[in-house]
Parts: sequence; structure tokens; C-alpha cells
Amino acid sequence: MDERMTEMSRRTVLAAAAIGAAGGGVSLGGGPAGAAAPPASGQAPGVYRYKIGSLEVTVATDGARTFPMPDNFVANAKKDEIDAALRAAYMEPGKMTIVFNPVVVNTGGKLVAIDTGNGAAAFEQSKGAVGQFQTNLKAGGIDPATVDAVLISHFHGDHINGLLTADGKKAFPNAEILVPQAEWAFWSDDGNMSKAAGGPIEGNFKNARRVFGALGNKVTPYAHDKEVVAGITPIATPGHTPGHTSFILASGNAKVLLQSDVTNHPALFVRNPGWHAMFDMDGDQAEKTRRRMFDMASAEKLQVQGFHFPFPAAGYVEKDGTGYRLVPVAWSPTL
Ligand SMILES: [Zn+2]
Repeated sequence: MDERMTEMSRRTVLAAAAIGAAGGGVSLGGGPAGAAAPPASGQAPGVYRYKIGSLEVTVATDGARTFPMPDNFVANAKKDEIDAALRAAYMEPGKMTIVFNPVVVNTGGKLVAIDTGNGAAAFEQSKGAVGQFQTNLKAGGIDPATVDAVLISHFHGDHINGLLTADGKKAFPNAEILVPQAEWAFWSDDGNMSKAAGGPIEGNFKNARRVFGALGNKVTPYAHDKEVVAGITPIATPGHTPGHTSFILASGNAKVLLQSDVTNHPALFVRNPGWHAMFDMDGDQAEKTRRRMFDMASAEKLQVQGFHFPFPAAGYVEKDGTGYRLVPVAWSPTL
């Protein structure tokens, strides 16, 4: 064989090997060249990063839960209306998927987590579906031990349980825990807790007390409408819970509304802002808040970051018919 023939045969073998790997086990002549690459056993890390002026935002997903749609999931919509909304979003009727997307903001001076997901203890129990926040943060190059502060939006388990490790220790060992003053006042009031006994939110009281108790109740309550960390201003968005809080992230001329749980899944509640999710403690107030926030966001063409929006949970909300629609941001390869 001359040089050229050898080169030709080498190329042919390489091409065959590539096809074999891509085909997932199609054997072309057998031998090592036709061996399949093992299939990946799970999802790749869910981390996305963008900038707001000089602030750097890292969205690290906590995962998602899928479950049969409860009858009362939307207090004021019928099952076929809900199914129609799901179909319109190419989601399976009769089922719900809730996604969880906490973020970490690097302000230049401080590393600040906003909400914490369902917690590592939920990882096993959900077969890895949720409780991924810390793992994804690490995949994104952020060590939880370097987080200076954790800002909590409200006291539901999917936002606070990630304050603890699977064995009940501090998940962010060096962070100050900042909580909305109004939220802290509501859930730590014994009178409110006894009124809730036997009702749907009794578990929320118990869980909040369990989580903050494990931290020795060492939290710093913060007020609304005043920068809590440079570039991050909490704003009152009540209804979902009494002290529910959203955040304006701002740097220079750039601004993002981090809406927390002003709305749950956009396919249902951005499209139908009048629908009341079962998690909203005061449905009417939550709806007023939602319309106020989305009218502002659409008028100002403000980017919105939504805890329960599909990953990476960032987009623009604009008016559409009787509701709104979410236009997701386009992925950017650079910051
Ligand atoms: Zn939530």
C-alpha cells in the first residue's frame, strides 16, 4: 500500500467509528471501532448566567416535580379550561410540572443567593427530580461556602428548605440569612399558627419553624423598598403569602424584575392572570399584585426572572388578549 491508500483507509475507519458512536450501538464490522458510547444516566447540569449591568446572575435550577393535576390546582378554573391551557403550551393534560429556579447574584462586593429550592433532603425522596440547587451551583463554579448572604422571598418549603443540608446543617455555612420582615412576623406569630391548626397551611407553619429552628432562628429581617444589598431592592408583592417579596435587580441602566412567586407556571397564570393557584393564600390580592407587576414589566419592557418559569426562567412579559404572554430570553454564549 502506498501512503495515499493508507491515509484513505485510516479516514474510512475513523468515519465508521463516528457513525457507530452516534448510532448508539450500530456495529459496523465489529471490534472497538463499532463500540457504543454508554448512554448518559441523567440530565446535564442546569446552570445559566447573564449580566445586569455589572451584576452577574447565575440561575442554578433545583429541578422540577411532575404530578397528577389536583382538582383544586386552580381555584377558579374548570378542568377542561386548564387542560386546554396545558395543550396550548404542548404540556400533557391532567398533569402538572412545577420547576424551581433559585439564583445567585454576584454584586461585585457580595455573593447573594435568592431562595434555595427544596433542599438536598428532597433529592433522594424525589429520585433526583428536585434538590439539585447546590449541585448545579457547584457545576457552575460557585461554592456554597462562599455565599455571603441568602435572601428569602417567602417561607414556602420550595424556597427555604434548601437552607439546610440533607442532615439538617447549614447549607450556606458562612451566609447571613435575610428574610422579609412581614413574612417573619406572620409565620412566627403563635396566634396565627393556632388559627391555622388543622387547615391547609398548618404544615407551612411547622416547616418554617423546623427550618429556621435548625438555624437557631438566626435571621436578619429586612424591610421593603430599601436596597438590602447593593443593587438588590426588595418590593412587597403580597397575596401568595402575606409577606411575599419580589426583587428589583439594578445596575446602571439595566434592571430585572425577579418576581419570585407572583405567578406559578406561565403557561397557566401568565396567560390567565385571573386564575388563582391553590398556593396563593389570598387569591384576590395575589391577582392584583400579578396584574400590577406584569403591567409594569410589559410597559417598561423589563426582563422578568421567575422562580417557577421553565429554566433558565428568564423572559419578557407582554400583553396578549385578556392576559399576557412570556417571551423567553435567547441563550447567549457570552456574558
Ligand atoms: Zn414557590
